[in-house]
Amino acid sequence: MAETAFVVVGAGGRMGRTLVRVLAETPGARLIGAIEPEGSAVLGADAGVLAGLPPLGVAVTDDPLPLFAKAQAVLDFTVPAATIAFAELAAQARLVHVIGTTGLSASDEEKIAAAARHAVVVKSGNMSLGVNLLAGLIRQAAKALDSGFDIEILEMHHRHKVDAPSGTALLFGRAAAEGRGVDLEAMSVRVRDGHTGPRPAEAIGFATLRGGSVVGDHSVVLAGEGETITLSHHAADRAIFARGAVKAALWGQGKKPGLYAMADVLGLSA
Ligand code: NAP
Repeated sequence: MAETAFVVVGAGGRMGRTLVRVLAETPGARLIGAIEPEGSAVLGADAGVLAGLPPLGVAVTDDPLPLFAKAQAVLDFTVPAATIAFAELAAQARLVHVIGTTGLSASDEEKIAAAARHAVVVKSGNMSLGVNLLAGLIRQAAKALDSGFDIEILEMHHRHKVDAPSGTALLFGRAAAEGRGVDLEAMSVRVRDGHTGPRPAEAIGFATLRGGSVVGDHSVVLAGEGETITLSHHAADRAIFARGAVKAALWGQGKKPGLYAMADVLGLSA
């Protein structure tokens, strides 16, 4: 089997270390580079040792260019500014760029779409099979139930998470909005505080909890008169996102340039 050469950016982060572990156990995948920003305390460390494995002979560096020139795929769970810079470099080198970073602005999304004109980009706020399957079920439920059922999305993540609502909560919100035939931007209620007045009929509400080490819990509540349906997903281990990301990068090899979603990778696209 031909090997696919991977670079992990943000290799010292929570997801970066998990990606390194998953790559080590994936047949046909080989880690050739690990990147952290200039000044990072882990520059020079062995990426395997950082991830709790025996040494892999890959030292963490802050210089992506020589590595991008030799790789076929880059796995990116970092921060928006870094992801935008890597998208440009990955497009120049024609690498498959898998983007898990969340909290991207509308202008970040435009830059990623521009990069995807030249290279394969797979981007998803959640790379797990279960979450992408659940998004399909939410779309179906929101379509089947009329506006007598109010849609609310509740999420909880660990105390270090810096953006809200989570990328997954937004992914579920988009699925619900598509099912209902409404515009999420216009109908989403991100915060409630003080005298809010009654709930608008077609609103899609979000509620955010942060604390402890929770990897990611999401519930979509469809609340009608006298009955409530709750669709939930519980992530117990970050490896589910990392396995999805590696699968996406292998799937993307040889595909036409474009911006793909995890649903495409998993064959779940509507
Ligand atoms: P984290 O532990 O803070 O890791 C982020 C890493 O990126 C850090 O090691 C950081 O280095 C590094 N980084 C920042 N700027 C960089 C640059 N210019 N070049 C290279 N590396 C850079 O965060 P995390 O929990 O792993 O999450 C990362 C992102 O993935 C978040 O947006 C999170 O929401 C998202 N996420 C997505 C999914 C999904 O399935 N899509 C699942 C889980 C998490 P320093 O610490 O040295 O700055």
